[in-house]
Amino acid sequence: MQCNCSILGDETTREAIVVDPGDDIDEILAILARHQLRLQYIVITHAHIDHIGGAKKLKDATGAPIYLNERDIELYQMMGEQAHFIGTPTPEVTNVDVLLREGDEIRCGDIHASVIETPGHTPGSVCLLVPNSERMTLIAGDTLFRDSIGRTDLWGGNYRQILRSLKDKLLPLDDAVIVVPGHGPLTTVGREREHNPFLQAL
Ligand SMILES: [Zn+2]
Repeated sequence: MQCNCSILGDETTREAIVVDPGDDIDEILAILARHQLRLQYIVITHAHIDHIGGAKKLKDATGAPIYLNERDIELYQMMGEQAHFIGTPTPEVTNVDVLLREGDEIRCGDIHASVIETPGHTPGSVCLLVPNSERMTLIAGDTLFRDSIGRTDLWGGNYRQILRSLKDKLLPLDDAVIVVPGHGPLTTVGREREHNPFLQAL
């Protein structure tokens, strides 16, 4: 699905978080096994099929609960329509276990990831801000890309809203924060502040 899936593991407790398991669940399970990690959280930045399509399979395989913002539940229930739109078979859907909210902290060993609501690409889009020993990392879903931002012409997308999220929630972050976008190469907040054409007007 060409979606960037992130796997965060604590080296001491061997607990892990998987963010955005769109597909390739066997590969994700192999990586968890190779690093002897036990999955504790399946976190979804937003309910587009390429980010959430494999969530049920991963939950079935590991027992880990699924975390998603409430405002994307409706979109998750439209999996048939989304699959049709991109021309793939419809993945099975399961229950979301925990509703993510602004300011929630996901604790996994020494990893403390905080939830930032960034509506616009979808109504329930969130980013995860993950401090680590060296630099802060932002898992941005499809809100911010290198040189671009998420499209807002699909179900529930809102261009003014994504611009407001970027301005109010992401641009205040430090330049050094590493950005892991939902698609494409990594970048930093500073690089996007300077070069991303969508952020210049903000
Ligand atoms: Zn998306």
